Amino acid sequence: MDFNEELSKDLNKIKTLGLYRKLKTITSAPGREVVISGKTYVNLSSNNYLGLSEHPAVKKAAIDAIEKYGAGGTSSRLVAGTLAIHEELEEKLASLKKTEKALVCPSGFQTNSAVISALIGAGDCLIMDRLNHASLWDASKLTGARVFVYPHRDMNGLEKVLKRASSYKRKLIATDSVFSMDGDIAPLKEIVSLAKKHGAITMIDEAHSTGVLGANGGGLAEYAGVECAVDIIMGTLSKALGSQGGFVCGSGKLIEYLINKSRAFIYTTSLAPASAAAALEALNIVKKEPERREKLKDLSASLRKRLKEAGLDTAGSETQIIPVVFGSLERTLEVSKKLLEAGIFAPAIRPPTVQEGECRLRFSLTSDHNEDDLLKVLNCLKSGRENREERIRPAGICASPLL
Ligand SMILES: *Cc1c(COP(=O)(O)O)cnc(C)c1O
Repeated sequence: MDFNEELSKDLNKIKTLGLYRKLKTITSAPGREVVISGKTYVNLSSNNYLGLSEHPAVKKAAIDAIEKYGAGGTSSRLVAGTLAIHEELEEKLASLKKTEKALVCPSGFQTNSAVISALIGAGDCLIMDRLNHASLWDASKLTGARVFVYPHRDMNGLEKVLKRASSYKRKLIATDSVFSMDGDIAPLKEIVSLAKKHGAITMIDEAHSTGVLGANGGGLAEYAGVECAVDIIMGTLSKALGSQGGFVCGSGKLIEYLINKSRAFIYTTSLAPASAAAALEALNIVKKEPERREKLKDLSASLRKRLKEAGLDTAGSETQIIPVVFGSLERTLEVSKKLLEAGIFAPAIRPPTVQEGECRLRFSLTSDHNEDDLLKVLNCLKSGRENREERIRPAGICASPLL
């Protein structure tokens, strides 16, 4: 069999399982609404939580940076790629996260690889929540370290693992702040106190919480009141900040160490100046306009409440990420199609992104949405259901991580 035939065979297998994925092309700006094949949809699948990617000041900052610096970073940060705009952005991120220093990378995915592979190696261990983001799992594969998994948000489970892990040299607990497919929140205060008790260090992935949680948009560490107690805080510039890129915040020593040791930071071209400038301006707006966070919170609470009242399963969601779990693949695809027909864009989330039997729609709201958008979704989900029980949770949750 030749190479392309082999690929075709594998793809056919994926198609038979109903798990085939296709790219959908958006021909408008990816805002509150999107245009796909000439039709306009309400976009409920964007991570542009504060609507900043289209904010005039953010766009202008990116344009001005291109005028000043050009289009590309042109070189690795360690060679000729560190621009003043990177350092300005790093100062602002460190100040938002209340840490000594910060470091930016071209993506959040890469930041997780950069941090974890530099800090953890043979003889160390990494301790992960079962529902951590794929980028943390992929980072774990670069380490040669032992990886322990604890059940989702289960602090007894975490303590058991910490006891078993006592003989490892360095122990790093890594968790999402807001879990990307469930919209629930890590019990950070408890994690930090267990880490202290067992001599572990902590890393949180604030991809979905930066700009959103906490009075100043500082993220979960601020929201949970443990800002100075977390050793490593990473996040992305590409969600609530509406730009592109990733970052890590921590002590001056941590950042100095990463600059010297982190391959995923060293061997890549620096973040594009337009992305850095856009994120910098977005951080100004995060500070100046808390009403965006407030509105997002209110819209999310309102949608969640009404989905629950309609008998739908929103899992443990407490944030702007609101899943509606149907369990079965067929039912999820059916509802997703119905939403599309009604002009709502919220694709089905299927394995391997979630486990089998956990298929869902994932709504993510932005501060640009409005009451009419929510009503449109609710009416569509309610129509034609005749009070059917939407979902029966499968008994027993599988213990293996989502790899
Ligand atoms: C999106 C996401 C990332 C990756 O960030 P990018 O900047 O998009 O590469 C990392 N962690 C979590 C939890 C995410 O949701």
